[in-house]
Amino acid sequence: MSDRCESCGDDGPELATVQRVYVVFDEAHVPVDERLADEFETWCALCRITYPHQPVSPS
Ligand SMILES: [Zn+2]
Repeated sequence: MSDRCESCGDDGPELATVQRVYVVFDEAHVPVDERLADEFETWCALCRITYPHQPVSPS
């Protein structure tokens, strides 16, 4: 796990491991599907509020 947010570069105290969720849009820009990223990323609390993602439980 990184000690910085891999989305915005912040080194806030509330970093967490997540899987980014990519929203798929159709030609009319309507969300039709969601895909999970292949890799885990470390995100700060603000990015976890701002961007769609799925939390990864520490094992
Ligand atoms: Zn961030």
